[in-house]
Amino acid sequence: MKMIYLNQAKFKEIQGKIDTVIIPIGTIEAHGEHLPLGTDVLIPEGLVERIEVKMGDRVLIAPTVNYGHVWTLAAYPGSVNISTEILTKYIYEIGKSLIDAGFTNIVLLNGHGGNIPAITTAGEMLADYGGQVITFNWWIDFREEILEICEGQGHAGEDETSAVLAVAEPYCDMSLAKANNKKLIANIKRKNIGKISYEHALSGDATKASREKGERILERVAERMMEILEEVWKDNIVE
Ligand SMILES: [Zn+2]
Repeated sequence: MKMIYLNQAKFKEIQGKIDTVIIPIGTIEAHGEHLPLGTDVLIPEGLVERIEVKMGDRVLIAPTVNYGHVWTLAAYPGSVNISTEILTKYIYEIGKSLIDAGFTNIVLLNGHGGNIPAITTAGEMLADYGGQVITFNWWIDFREEILEICEGQGHAGEDETSAVLAVAEPYCDMSLAKANNKKLIANIKRKNIGKISYEHALSGDATKASREKGERILERVAERMMEILEEVWKDNIVE
């Protein structure tokens, strides 16, 4: 059930009946030269589309947080940066309102690495406030499953490009897809470091991506997320 389309009467109807809300969180950031700036918004939205089809009567899907924290690639055109401090508070206050409205399971579905510190802290704050927080970083948590479909991963790399092809192919220009296998020797912070480590705002090999791989990634990741939610609802939270 998508919150953005509900009126207040319909929202009231589900309060107390549905206890789980998914908040997709993305960012606006350069993704190679071939992918749209909204890549990290489009992929979590592609995942919730699939969840909506299978369990839309059991979860509320909140509107996406479109902006996130962009530091490493801030020097590339089209990147919009929200500080970790502001993003943390923003996510916390969205979650807090939803907990107050009766949604005790807050699912933070993240599409962007730079958001992780904010989501981690906001998640802890929301748990302290009384919610149960389930965080998904799709490309990290389901790496094993993704690597059964793709040879490699990367920022605008094979997996991410494939996933965007599955949801927004007309906005991808595969004639501009490239490979960049450069990696920093350590976690080095320096102004505009992304110009060195993420040449063309890219890591990995985008040329190996395909729409078919992307469909499979989104299917598999959404399926794994739903399996985990089923276990959370039964309170089977350890393996
Ligand atoms: Zn991305």
